[in-house]
Amino acid sequence: MPEGDTVWNTARVLARALTGARLTGSDFRVPQLATTDLTGWRVTDCASRGKHLLIRLDEPTDAAHWTLHSHLRMDGTWRVYAPGERWSARPAHLIRVVLSTATSTAVGYHLHEVALVPTTEEHRLVGHLGPDLLGTDWDPQEAVRRLADRPAESIAEALLDQRNLAGVGNLYKCELLFLRGINPRTRVADVPDLAGLITLAHDLLAANRGRWTQSTTGSLRRGQTSYVYGRRAQPCRRCGTAIRKEELGERVTYWCPRCQPAPT
Ligand SMILES: [Zn+2]
Repeated sequence: MPEGDTVWNTARVLARALTGARLTGSDFRVPQLATTDLTGWRVTDCASRGKHLLIRLDEPTDAAHWTLHSHLRMDGTWRVYAPGERWSARPAHLIRVVLSTATSTAVGYHLHEVALVPTTEEHRLVGHLGPDLLGTDWDPQEAVRRLADRPAESIAEALLDQRNLAGVGNLYKCELLFLRGINPRTRVADVPDLAGLITLAHDLLAANRGRWTQSTTGSLRRGQTSYVYGRRAQPCRRCGTAIRKEELGERVTYWCPRCQPAPT
């Protein structure tokens, strides 16, 4: 499932393949852009904001700057193929966008919210996002302020709300709360050290930037990369208590009932 670091990695892979290149072809398999043809356009930049991907392009005359936006949500992905390579990552019917250059082809599968907007209007798509954990303008104080603005919300839901801070997905949410000994149902107002939690969120995502295996334990070995996420009924790595799994809001949450006692 894409978290902020996965999207950051994806943007980097796309940037390496596309930046500076002129497109030799494009194929949009989404109704809103079905007739769009970006042949001759030049890719100037690929960036991520939270879980949003922004591919910036210039028109053939370089007269205008545009942004191709996509959101990966739970299941979207971009892959880069060499010319002639089989597009094997996902079934063909999931392809939404194809961008070709002389040396590579970027294929976007199961993308959401695909849109082409003037770069000056990017804020309409990503302006609601809180500070980006992996952005160059990461602002921990602003993230804490936005979280504290919703004191009655559970910390588990507040961490996933990209308007507070952008980049935390379900895996990091669960792991962060375990590492800080915070029960997922704790109200934001009752979390003792929001700033410390936010600093840890940044450190965890930053540590996994540049690799595809996400680990919060320091181990990259299969089955050892998380403390609680995906470990229902398995023993807590600290205390041996069985890890619990429960729906909380729209998403499942994993936690250790002993290391993360319920708020009193
Ligand atoms: Zn425990």
